[in-house]
Amino acid sequence: MSKKSDFGLIGLAVMGQNLVLNVESRGFQVSVYNRTTSVTDEFVAKHPGKALVAAHTLEEFVQSLATPRKIHIMVKSTAVKDTDRDAVDAVIEQLIPLLDQGDIVIDGGNSFYQTTERRDTYLAEKGLRFIGAGVSGGEEGARKGPSIMPGGPASTWEVMKPIFESIAAKVDGEPCVIHIGPGGAGHYVKMIHNGIEYGDMQLICEAYNIFKAAGFTTDEMAKVFNDWNEGDMQSYLIQITGKALEQKDAETGKSIVELIVDKAGQKGTGQWTLLNAAENAVVISTINAAVEARILSSKKKARVAASKELTGPTVNITGDKAELVKKVHDALYASKVISYAQGLDLIKTTGESKKWNLDLGRIAAIWRGGCIIRARFLNKITEAYRENAELSNLMLAPFFKDLLSKTQQNWREVVSLATLNGIPVPAFSASLGYYDSYRAERLPANLLQAQRDFFGAHTYERTDKPEGQFFHTEWPEVI
Ligand code: NAP
Repeated sequence: MSKKSDFGLIGLAVMGQNLVLNVESRGFQVSVYNRTTSVTDEFVAKHPGKALVAAHTLEEFVQSLATPRKIHIMVKSTAVKDTDRDAVDAVIEQLIPLLDQGDIVIDGGNSFYQTTERRDTYLAEKGLRFIGAGVSGGEEGARKGPSIMPGGPASTWEVMKPIFESIAAKVDGEPCVIHIGPGGAGHYVKMIHNGIEYGDMQLICEAYNIFKAAGFTTDEMAKVFNDWNEGDMQSYLIQITGKALEQKDAETGKSIVELIVDKAGQKGTGQWTLLNAAENAVVISTINAAVEARILSSKKKARVAASKELTGPTVNITGDKAELVKKVHDALYASKVISYAQGLDLIKTTGESKKWNLDLGRIAAIWRGGCIIRARFLNKITEAYRENAELSNLMLAPFFKDLLSKTQQNWREVVSLATLNGIPVPAFSASLGYYDSYRAERLPANLLQAQRDFFGAHTYERTDKPEGQFFHTEWPEVI
């Protein structure tokens, strides 16, 4: 009888195929199954000599795996509520009657964390083990080493650990995968990771927009981003921005970036992050601005029409370009810190209410490789939480406190410059607004409380009376 496979994967689209090749390249035999069987045959035929087993039915697939079976599902996930059912559920339902107690099912798609929690409970009732793993890094990450965020029982993670650690990206010899926590913790952290990714991308785009308004050529801008990629802001997204700006269109010889229509797409994980932040009363204004910027960008027709109706200042940015580059660098860096501070605050808040016992420093560490947000400065986040695991907000860690203090003047100048010139910088300014609000000993919420008490008798506390005592004023009648 032929050798049983160490790992099985269902769903041979771009992510699935690349993950299979990654797992196989680490010395594991992999069984593969795809609903459309011709895809399975073509994939296996394209990779002769590899330890792959093609299965045409799920029965064949399950029988080809060594027990406890480790089955990774990588199919389209569309459920956005825990009551929704999608392809992942369809595959799970087909698998259940074929599996034995203790077999492990992994959902590696971008599933909504609440669906993961539902599946975790459901499969546990059936005596099966479940892992909901966020996999980041797109096609290339899947092939060469992604960042993996698995959630589920710790004992199940221990079984999966050797395979996950061998396929994950490595930074300083450390695999970019840890057991995030129970239940939906892995998919939850992946969702916030995606929100942070939205923030990073928008902030870079705002920097680009300022440079463009200041008359930089795309080659000049490419150089700025390439230079930044050598310094403290080194990151995959800065790197690809430099490369994208360098790229010329084969047909016209023009910058390809300038030929691309300014309408951004999105798949929904950013919006999930916003909804979750609202549910948990956590401010993620930078990510919020990033999601909304994509939404506004997609309303191209309305913008073109409004551009002929609504007035603004004439753009007039003069002065030393090198000085502007330095200022925008600082605005971008400071805003990025704020975005991570907000994203991590959301993870911390949810983690505490769910009792997931999350380690924010280690989570930041596994984002250093394999994923889209990989960046040098993530080391600083890991260090900050290593020094103080109870850190209430990333901004208060000594390194970031100092960084925000040093960059804030330039940050303010960039937001002012952009505003005076009518250049939209929603994420830069939302970040600055958060910083100034968070550090404000006194906010104008006293007036807000007066308004609430005025129209709704909602009561208020007083500065000159003990906390917890509530007062109401008989306000004058207003007609
Ligand atoms: P995809 O386009 O999201 O999904 C296509 C795969 O799902 C195909 O194998 C398809 O099989 C299968 N499928 C769809 N409905 C099915 C059903 N009812 N029953 C069984 N199989 C079904 O593929 P992808 O882009 O590789 O992504 C896979 C997962 O990874 C998704 O959850 C995605 O969000 C996540 N992800 C993607 C990326 C990325 O960069 N693409 C990055 C991270 C995570 P057929 O061939 O038979 O149609």
